[in-house]
Amino acid sequence: MKNTDRELLFLSPYLKEVLWGGTKLQKEYGYKSDSDHIGEAWVVSANPHGLSTVRNGRFAGQTLDQVYREHPDWFRPDGEGDFSLLVKLIDAEQHLSVQVHPDDAYAYRVEHGCGKTECWYIVDCDEDADIVIGHHAQSKEELRELVENGEWDNLLQIIPIHKGDFFFIPSGTVHAIRRGTRILETQQNCDITYRLYDYDRLQNGKPRELHLQKALDVITCPQELPKSERCRISGTDPECAEGVRLIQCPMFTVEHWSVKKQVTFSAEEQYRIIDVLEGEGQIQDVPLHKGDHVLVPSGYGEVELKGTFEVISSYIGRTS
Ligand code: ZN
Repeated sequence: MKNTDRELLFLSPYLKEVLWGGTKLQKEYGYKSDSDHIGEAWVVSANPHGLSTVRNGRFAGQTLDQVYREHPDWFRPDGEGDFSLLVKLIDAEQHLSVQVHPDDAYAYRVEHGCGKTECWYIVDCDEDADIVIGHHAQSKEELRELVENGEWDNLLQIIPIHKGDFFFIPSGTVHAIRRGTRILETQQNCDITYRLYDYDRLQNGKPRELHLQKALDVITCPQELPKSERCRISGTDPECAEGVRLIQCPMFTVEHWSVKKQVTFSAEEQYRIIDVLEGEGQIQDVPLHKGDHVLVPSGYGEVELKGTFEVISSYIGRTS
């Protein structure tokens, strides 16, 4: 199936200023901003809280949301509902708050939107960097007690991290990105966060709002962390490109690719996102560089990358 009216969408990010941000996203990827507190680049986003913008072709200057509303069938086979995925690059100059996101059932009931399962690919980090994933409480009562007494060291599970690590964070999992960490996050298109602890920091002289009761409602307890599902993607000549599937879940599939010469992806029933972390070359003979994010609409068919790249590629659901 190839629809010749469909074109590749090169996207420019929405840059978000936050108290824990820095300047690495601008320096590393050439994104333009005057702020020295940029923490997030929403690189593929149709979310009204931060829209990415098409920078090429007949949709140049339009937000991804506008293109989605005009051509929903380019992005979902059923052409209904919200845009499904949201991809961010995150640069943590300081710790992010300790937080949790609700699942779909809770979010639809309480917030009237979908929940949030997310995953992190560690693009780069300081040598001694770590991250919070999960907790040690065995029951909701113990969880509440440790939270109310501020016993964060006893509650939170802190894991050392290295460049190239990958973490799957299902809804209900307590987590925090910590200082000295740059990640690429693929997540459900949702901006609902319940903040549990913010290191007693002040923003404009005031602490940021916490959401203790909702957080306690949705935290999985006891916490079981998902096992790594990393597996090699077969069918590609390793001299040309090597692919690893990092996760496949009902919300998204995420792959890591080391492209040495060439790779062909296809977008049939699903759209496909291509995030270039390193390298340069071409996509369909158009120049492609580090920091580029391309959305291949569903029904586009095959797309060829030529050059040397490190790429994260994602799409909805289980099938490619
Ligand atoms: Zn989160």
